[in-house]
Amino acid sequence: MLCGNDIAKAKALLEAGDVVAVPTETVYGLAANALNSKAVSKIFSVKGRPDFDPLIVHAASKEEAFAWAKELPNEALALAEAFWPGPLTLVLLKKSVIPSEVTSGLETLGLRVPNHALLRSLLQTLDFPLAAPSANPFGYISPTTAAHVADQLGARIPYILDGGPCTIGLESTIVGFESGKAVILRPGHIQKEDIAQVIGYTPKRRESPAERPPAPGMLSSHYSPKTPMEWMEGKHLVGNNEGVLYFSGRQKPEGHAYEILSEQGHLTEAARRLYGCLRSLDKQGLKKIWVELIPEGIGNAEALKDRLNRAVGKQPLSS
Ligand code: AMP
Ligand code: MG
Repeated sequence: MLCGNDIAKAKALLEAGDVVAVPTETVYGLAANALNSKAVSKIFSVKGRPDFDPLIVHAASKEEAFAWAKELPNEALALAEAFWPGPLTLVLLKKSVIPSEVTSGLETLGLRVPNHALLRSLLQTLDFPLAAPSANPFGYISPTTAAHVADQLGARIPYILDGGPCTIGLESTIVGFESGKAVILRPGHIQKEDIAQVIGYTPKRRESPAERPPAPGMLSSHYSPKTPMEWMEGKHLVGNNEGVLYFSGRQKPEGHAYEILSEQGHLTEAARRLYGCLRSLDKQGLKKIWVELIPEGIGNAEALKDRLNRAVGKQPLSS
């Protein structure tokens, strides 16, 4: 495995049907030519991703992204104009040229124009779009640095395009359309209030059906470390060989392992640091990671709460 910022090398590998890890503003992705079903199947085998889990396709511009959609609802166009390039995925009916491996047999396709300079330069030099889910083993914490990718997939992939740490750190907001109306399939950095400003109403959140969720980000346990996690409700003592993920706090706790998401309690910093903090606690061989509740009144923490609920495997009792 090699790591660097050589776009020509990434391009050559992708053109040869190989996979390459790429930076985005949300998390690192494991990319392959979205029009080549053999290349796409490598993504599934490297990640151990189940074949029911469709991939997001990344393009250099909204024109190039929409070239793969069979229909374009007005609201999708308006959302793309407002938020692309950016952390928003639109799920639209697909054209048949997109192989069914990409969409796990679904008639719909997740499309996104990412906002990361190095990845955009790469996409501009390619004459195909890139299918790219997060560059981690299925179910584990998403990677937000090239080192996170190297840690887990380094031995299985030929190249990591290193674009520095991800600036957002949580996966994209996913919006689908039901009878022409926008619905949120996965919350993210772009919030329902931001979307409402563009389309004139607040989109509903589609809660996850029990089986075969349309977005695996909807699985009740996902994005999780290997160490058992539990919500820390109320005051309580941290046991031997247990650690804590604090939301905020300026004092250094003593006597146990910990990470603080944002010393001053800022949501964007907490989101950016979440996966790195979880990884670092997960490496310490702890028996348990306690998670401090996110305080009320600090702004819209829906996406952060969503990822933490899935990492812990359940919602806090008090929510
Ligand atoms: P990841 O990049 O690993 O976070 O995964 C991409 C997410 O986008 C997954 O949760 C996918 O299920 C979701 N996704 C991709 N395509 C579709 C689609 N056609 N319908 C619903 N969700 C999708
Ligand atoms: Mg993922």
